[in-house]
Amino acid sequence: MSRYHCSCGFAIDAEDEFGDHLLMAFTPDDDIGTDSIMHAEMSDEFIRLTGDIPASSPLPRHVCSCGFTTNETPEFDDHLLVSFVTPDSIGVDGEKHVPVDPSTPDRWKWAA
Ligand SMILES: [Zn+2]
Ligand SMILES: [Zn+2]
Repeated sequence: MSRYHCSCGFAIDAEDEFGDHLLMAFTPDDDIGTDSIMHAEMSDEFIRLTGDIPASSPLPRHVCSCGFTTNETPEFDDHLLVSFVTPDSIGVDGEKHVPVDPSTPDRWKWAA
């Protein structure tokens, strides 16, 4: 038995890979979140071009186009998930993606 199950049939033991599955399922082609704001990781070059972060400051590891920044990869993934997961949990592939395993962490139970 895998530890994490999705209602689409996807199952896996690794928590971060399950998060990747949800991210794949919900990230739209245009990267526009449910809040109508674009969420996409910015490259270091682009961040320097925008000038939002002073050239003298070290860049955060992850910078989202909405302005969110973090040095933690799981935190950045969570930010994208929160932005992209639809209220009805229907992914861009038209399938419903809801964690169905009772051991799934509470933070993933948006649809509950
Ligand atoms: Zn964002
Ligand atoms: Zn799924």
